[in-house]
Amino acid sequence: MPNRIKRKKPIIAIDGPAGAGKTTIARLLACRLGFTYIDTGAMYRVVAVRAHEEGINSGDENRLESLCRKIDIIFRTTEEENRIFLNGEDYSEKIRKPFVGQITSQVSAKPNIRETMVSLQRKMGGNGAVVMEGRDIGTVVFPDAEFKFYLDASSETRGKRRYLELKAKNEDVPLDEIIKEIKDRDERDASRIHSPLKKAEDAVYIDTSDMAIEEVVRTMLEVIKRTGLSL
Ligand code: C5P
Repeated sequence: MPNRIKRKKPIIAIDGPAGAGKTTIARLLACRLGFTYIDTGAMYRVVAVRAHEEGINSGDENRLESLCRKIDIIFRTTEEENRIFLNGEDYSEKIRKPFVGQITSQVSAKPNIRETMVSLQRKMGGNGAVVMEGRDIGTVVFPDAEFKFYLDASSETRGKRRYLELKAKNEDVPLDEIIKEIKDRDERDASRIHSPLKKAEDAVYIDTSDMAIEEVVRTMLEVIKRTGLSL
């Protein structure tokens, strides 16, 4: 850490399972550094929701792939929130509905969908000055990222976090159902053949179970700044 610097500004890759805190932490980190934030999970979610809207079956790889090729995704990020627009329409709320996690995990396991999305993600982040988070950023999308982090937490902690997030949006889903959904999704994401969820060998591992968000962000900033890299 860090890998040899190849870009004027680095790429910070953050991976980990659902509910480990990646989305909030990556957004805050990007805002503090003045970098672009790219939530690749939101990108896969948008494809899954759009496919659902168009009545495309998650097994219909040809139609899914042509859908992926047509999409134009834009993020608008502040410290408070990250909004995602698909072909100009705001999808930020739709992609967070409870059923979307599972359908996204099915769609994102398809190799040609991953290929199309990975090449889009490389285009979006290749110049650096970016914080990109997902499942395969440090292993597949940018194995040469200058900084890599793997955020983790126990499935109970992750379930509780999701439960509170949904409750705040008046979505009352029982906690045990959420924990089961998270475990199923972890299992599918980690066991798929193409770019499974796994820690890159050179990633810094952080267990966020007993850490506040700010503490995690501070720890990551310290790791980055310790390298003396001018940001
Ligand atoms: O991070 P988030 O929970 O929004 O991701 C939703 C789903 O998208 C994950 O469960 C996973 O199946 C998929 N995903 C992926 N590769 C990424 C990011 C997300 O396969 N880089």
